[in-house]
Amino acid sequence: MDCLFCKIIDREIPADIVYEDDAVLAFNDINPQAPSHLLIVPKLHIATLNDIEEGDLALVGRLQYTAARLAAEKGFAEAGYRVVMNCNDQGGQTVYHIHMHLMGGRRFTWPAG
Ligand code: 5GP
Ligand code: ZN
Repeated sequence: MDCLFCKIIDREIPADIVYEDDAVLAFNDINPQAPSHLLIVPKLHIATLNDIEEGDLALVGRLQYTAARLAAEKGFAEAGYRVVMNCNDQGGQTVYHIHMHLMGGRRFTWPAG
């Protein structure tokens, strides 16, 4: 499949991988928007948030659980952090394999632009 994140999962394209288990991979974003900016992806290819099915719910929860655990590991869980999932063009999605951005190490403003 011609999918960048599937290729990273399959080690066809290199990435700075920080966490892996049977269902999830996390790696540093190539264009970080914060001192720490990780992408957490399911190993299962799901193109957009609109494509999540009922059978995927545990997997999606696992993304969030992994984000919180990595935030703790990186040392910014208590200070706070931001998670973002973009969907489709107007949502700012550029890679069509769902992913959670985990950003920490600076203060974020709200509402986001
Ligand atoms: P999106 O815009 O789809 O929510 O997020 C895609 C993210 O993937 C962007 O933050 C972008 O910097 C990151 N990205 C794009 N290409 C690569 C790559 O080849 N390697 C890594 N590690 N991140 C990438
Ligand atoms: Zn994929």
